[in-house]
Amino acid sequence: MRETASPSLAQRTTLRIGGQAIAELVLEHEDDLERLPLRLRELGGDPLVMGAGSNILAADGDLPLVLVRPALVHGPVIVGREGDLTLVRAGAGIPMPRLLRFCAANGLSGLEGLVGIPGSVGGAVVMNAGSFGTETCNHITALLVFQDGVVSTVSRDALRCGYRSMGIGEKKSRFVVLEAIFGLTRAERNGISYRMRHNFFEKKSKQPVTAWSAGCVYKNPAPDMPAGKLLDMAGFRGKKLGGMAFSSRHANFLVNEGKGSADAALALMQEAQTAVRQRFGMELEPEVRIVPCPLP
Ligand SMILES: Cc1cc2nc3c(=O)[nH]c(=O)nc-3n(C[C@H](O)[C@H](O)[C@H](O)COP(=O)(O)OP(=O)(O)OC[C@H]3O[C@@H](n4cnc5c(N)ncnc54)[C@H](O)[C@@H]3O)c2cc1C
Repeated sequence: MRETASPSLAQRTTLRIGGQAIAELVLEHEDDLERLPLRLRELGGDPLVMGAGSNILAADGDLPLVLVRPALVHGPVIVGREGDLTLVRAGAGIPMPRLLRFCAANGLSGLEGLVGIPGSVGGAVVMNAGSFGTETCNHITALLVFQDGVVSTVSRDALRCGYRSMGIGEKKSRFVVLEAIFGLTRAERNGISYRMRHNFFEKKSKQPVTAWSAGCVYKNPAPDMPAGKLLDMAGFRGKKLGGMAFSSRHANFLVNEGKGSADAALALMQEAQTAVRQRFGMELEPEVRIVPCPLP
């Protein structure tokens, strides 16, 4: 287990925002899990499991958090078949773009809609990341997780998959996803690459994909009422505060223009949520995970 003192959240998140945590524990092997609970107790603070940090808005200043990063990068590898599905195993630390490249190269279809999502396999599973009508959970057949001090395999049936959320059975305790097994269908490689390219260009034409952001900052309150449209109608497209801005390209992308802070981000979000509530009577729920405290 690799340990770093005072890790910067700004350096570990795609929003480039956030202060210093107490420590960072990088899990490089499954054996590291044996020492994890004791080390967390010794360090104190609240554990925060982190993947690529592409859906995290971290507060400024000293944070009572210990970052736990499952840098388990085994696979992706084909491990068998289940009916018509080809099973692919991937460690939690593998970047989603790498998994998608593997799928395209091996003629495995299912994840094409997830192109352009910059997170890790673990983060995509826990967020049930999705786009173009596809969600990560739809393609999981099993997970390997660390929960309550035990490593176990969890089958698809035991997952509670929701809109940008995933839980395990009735358990409330936190868990670390160590690896995922995806069930994918065989298809022509050119077709898969074409769909991925098409989806990527579609995103690139509408979203500020290279800006410092965490993707969509709010969940869509309803499928026919996207958060971006509500923000736009409430006058928040392009609205700026303290180095943060709702993108003029896609109003649901909160962007750090270079000198943004969590305080500014949260103030702008608060303003937007109030305006949308007053004008449309609708609540905007953050999709981005705000740490350590959610908005009031
Ligand atoms: C440009 C851009 C485009 C995006 N487009 C999309 C999109 O189209 N669709 C979409 O759904 N999202 C999108 N996102 C958001 C983000 O990429 C996804 O939510 C992604 O799945 C997060 O993965 P991550 O590894 O970065 O997770 P992190 O941001 O590191 O963590 C997110 C959450 O998952 C938890 N977590 C992470 N890894 C683990 C693990 N191994 N075990 C347990 N818990 C874990 C964290 O505690 C946290 O609560 C986009 C972001 C950006 C910057």
